[in-house]
Amino acid sequence: MNQNSLRLVWVYPDLLSTYGDQGNALVVERRARQRGLDVSRLDVRSDQQIPTSGDIYLVGGGEDRPQRLAAERLRRDGGLNRAVSNGAIVFSVCAGYQILGHEFINDLGQREPGLGLLDVVSTRGEGERCVGDVLGDIDDRLGLPPLTGFENHQGVTHLGPSARPFARVRFGNGNGTGDGTEGAYNDTVFGTYMHGPVMARNPHIADLLLKLALDVNALPPVNDEWYEALRNERITAATQATA
Ligand code: GLN
Repeated sequence: MNQNSLRLVWVYPDLLSTYGDQGNALVVERRARQRGLDVSRLDVRSDQQIPTSGDIYLVGGGEDRPQRLAAERLRRDGGLNRAVSNGAIVFSVCAGYQILGHEFINDLGQREPGLGLLDVVSTRGEGERCVGDVLGDIDDRLGLPPLTGFENHQGVTHLGPSARPFARVRFGNGNGTGDGTEGAYNDTVFGTYMHGPVMARNPHIADLLLKLALDVNALPPVNDEWYEALRNERITAATQATA
């Protein structure tokens, strides 16, 4: 990134923003500003080119048809893959997560190629749709507190050897494979099934992306009172729903 200016790119708000995932962009922006960083946010619609000079890219969830259209356009565009080759950070949710993998099943029931940025393959779950509150533990290496979120997906995601599980669920389905894993990540590319939007419930994830972008180990603390209240409310809800 430039000395003090962070470039945040929100990918395809016209196709991949069905579940309030815009909230993630708001949280990243706000937490960067609270640390005195100058952030520019670019919302890139699906008829526009993906810039390759961003620092952090956010990709949201979406319904099955918009998900296919987004995958087609992202493949054709190629900008997100180039950005990752340049060291950019990507955080993706649900449909966006599936698109970042090798392939997923599209709305026509066909295997749709993804971007291959994560070593995962998504299939269509045979069982009921995975819907509800989730509680999990984020991978130790990332050093973050428990994950709280909300999932709503039919897809089931299988991790290959170069993808690490982002978290392990205590409640909920996550990747839906029955092995307790939730989401996936490699060096700078992250995927999760958590909507919510996930960063409003887990602001530490926004901080993780900022630290990676700034290449620092810590950020000045900020007041997390409201986030903590929301976290506690949703963790209690998840715990009670499954008690
Ligand atoms: N269409 C995908 C699925 O159901 C993604 C849904 C979503 O983004 N919530 O698995």
